[in-house]
Parts: sequence; C-alpha cells; structure tokens
Amino acid sequence: MDAQQPTPTIEDYLSLIFSISFDQEKITGAKLADYLGVSAPTVTATLQRMERDGWISTGDKKQITLTEKGQTAALAVVRRHNLVECLLFEVLGMPLSSIHDEAHRIEHAISQETESYLNKKFKNVQFSPFGMPLLGDTPPTRGWKPLIQASTGRNLLIRRIIHYHSTREALQFLEQLELIPGTQIQVLEHQVYNQTLILQSAAQPEKITLGNPMAQMILVEEI
Ligand SMILES: [Zn+2]
Ligand SMILES: [Zn+2]
Repeated sequence: MDAQQPTPTIEDYLSLIFSISFDQEKITGAKLADYLGVSAPTVTATLQRMERDGWISTGDKKQITLTEKGQTAALAVVRRHNLVECLLFEVLGMPLSSIHDEAHRIEHAISQETESYLNKKFKNVQFSPFGMPLLGDTPPTRGWKPLIQASTGRNLLIRRIIHYHSTREALQFLEQLELIPGTQIQVLEHQVYNQTLILQSAAQPEKITLGNPMAQMILVEEI
C-alpha cells in the first residue's frame, strides 16, 4: 500500500492526535486507546505502523507528535470533518449530537471536487458547529477557557464543545440543556465539595447543575 495515502483508520488516528494536541493535552497511547475505545495492543500496533510510515514520532515518556507529513494529512482530514459537520448541521438540520459520528464516516470518502464545493459553501463560516476553527489551523487560545475555570458572576459565551472523545449521550445531555456554542451563561456557584457547578443560562429560566467532567468539555469566553 502507498504509505503516502493514509487509510481511514490512520486518518482517524491523525485527526484525533491533532485534536488532542489542539486543546493542549498530552498524547499517549493509553489516552488514544481510551478515546478510540480499542485495546492498548491495537493502538500500539497502529502507532508502530504510523511511525514506520512517517506520520508520527514518539519521544521520551511515550509522548506522540505528528511529523510534518502527519500534520499535513491530519489537517486535511480535520478540514473535511469540520466541513461535513457544517453541512449536516447548517444545511440538513441534523442535531449537534448526531453530526460528529456521521462526519467521521463521510470524511474518508469525500472527493476533492465535493470538498471544493463545501469550501465555497462555507467560505464565510469561521467555526464548525462545535466551535472548532473551520480550517483547523487557527491558534487555539483567543481567551477561551474551560468553564470549570470561569469565575462566578461573569457573563460567558459558550464557544466550543470539546467533542472528539465525548459520547453521544453526553452531547445529547448538553444539547437538551442548550449548553452549546452561542449560548450565554453565568456560573452562580462552584460546588467544589460536590464536584459540580450551578449555572444560569440565558436560554432557559431554571438553574442548571453540571458535573465537573462536563464543565471540562465546554470552553467559554468572557463577554
Ligand atoms: Zn466532530
Ligand atoms: Zn473518521
């Protein structure tokens, strides 16, 4: 097989490694196994092939980084993923909780021609429905931070849902509460002893109790 053309499996590894490092988390084989829901030996074998074919390099402490070739291939698939999510969400009106899995299937089969039409269609769109830069290469910071770190009483705008390892149920839960990009919220209380936050959302009158792990998935900007 031509090692210049990543297989769908390799594309998924590349985009996951890209996404994890985009949010400045450390990447290890154990984390990939956890996020992909596959066994550690499977991940190890795939990573060995990827290193042999020049997609990644592994440094000390088993930290994984993309090579230049890996970075280019990862960006290509991340872009297609984000464009397809826009198509499914904006044009077809599918719920946020459904589009990621579907985009994962479609992203591997999209032709250059379709991609160029998608690029044209969404040329004025800056972010995917989850709040990822559409073209995948904008700096991550912009003053967005995990909700868990937000001070109480500030007006916050939800900017991104870190969604590449979240379950569909978790996304449905956030969707039902309208805790999605574009919604304004305030943290009323950090209940550290109870590992939860109490929120007030502009989208609904009742206060919302959210567990800390969910609050880690949401990036907000103070407005
Ligand atoms: Zn996605
Ligand atoms: Zn995929």
